[in-house]
Amino acid sequence: MTLPKQQILDWLTEQRPRRLDELWALADQTRREHVGDAVHLRGLIEFSNICQRNCLYCGLRTGNAKLSRYRLTEDEIMDCVGQAVAFNYGTVVLQSGEDPGIDLDWLCALVRRIKSETDMAVTLSVGEWEDDALQHMRDAGADRYLLRFETSNAKLFDRIHPPAPGQPKRDRMEILRTLRRLGFEVGSGVMIGIPGQTWSDLADDLLAFAELDLDMIGVGPYIPHPDTPLGKYLEHYMASEDLQVPATELMTYKVLALTRLLCPDTNIPATTALATLNTKSGRELGLQRGANIIMPNLSPTEHRGAYEIYPDKACIKDSAGQCLLCVTGRVAMIGRSVGKGRGDSPNAQQRRDADSAIESIGGDS
Ligand code: SF4
Repeated sequence: MTLPKQQILDWLTEQRPRRLDELWALADQTRREHVGDAVHLRGLIEFSNICQRNCLYCGLRTGNAKLSRYRLTEDEIMDCVGQAVAFNYGTVVLQSGEDPGIDLDWLCALVRRIKSETDMAVTLSVGEWEDDALQHMRDAGADRYLLRFETSNAKLFDRIHPPAPGQPKRDRMEILRTLRRLGFEVGSGVMIGIPGQTWSDLADDLLAFAELDLDMIGVGPYIPHPDTPLGKYLEHYMASEDLQVPATELMTYKVLALTRLLCPDTNIPATTALATLNTKSGRELGLQRGANIIMPNLSPTEHRGAYEIYPDKACIKDSAGQCLLCVTGRVAMIGRSVGKGRGDSPNAQQRRDADSAIESIGGDS
């Protein structure tokens, strides 16, 4: 579905419960028709919380001296991967800060090992790398790559996301296009209610999702971290009251539902940030308003609390097994089922079909 910007703005500012019920119903129906009732689980392994950057909102920023840092060994990561296999997950997501101690060859060997020892899809979420490094990761067998563009407002992005010292500024939209060219399934997303983010910015974010033709889109509320500049001096960064997007649970559902309408074939997670705002039913409501993915945590429990992009994250004390039980229970409670296999996005499947059709035509000529 295409929606003009004004209509997106109207939905974002809509307050009438009856109209919002119509939006949730339309998003849910679109989700059912395009990606079905299955909820796919992606096992999340947060393997390093070390980061060289100083993003103004993020608890992993290098300037946060209060955070105790860790990087998992290959054996520790493979233990998590073993659990993903035992739980029948179709995907593992390897996520980290921009850790300068991660060696490219080590990372590629790890991906190769997971691909040779399991049938799972491997998703990388390891920040900005040079194009040739991304090519190596793809050659090693990585299937998907997640890189949130956070906001399509370039000025706002530059303010909250300065490059690492001595590193050039990179254009994340350009990196996303490179990832697509390299054959990754590409995921991205934004934060909702970043101090300084206006309604118009957020509507542009939604239009950018459609333009980038993404395979996965994660949207989550901005949650202030007290040990970051943005968290400490929130008021200083806010746009004026009538322009500033609120970082609320309701706004997150609106963006999630509109994302489903604009990008019907994409995979959309009900994020942990949403579950943090509403521990009782945030994930379920997300799944009923457009989402079809959950990312249960496989990281060792002793390190969960230290992957603190924002504080009081949901589920940091639960073991991987408890996460699975909780998630499958929640999925069953809303009458849905856990998906089998890798759960590729229909988008990616259509691209693969088109590529093989082109190849077969080339082969015949
Ligand atoms: S947002 Fe990403 S790049 Fe920025 S400090 Fe946090 S982990 Fe590092």
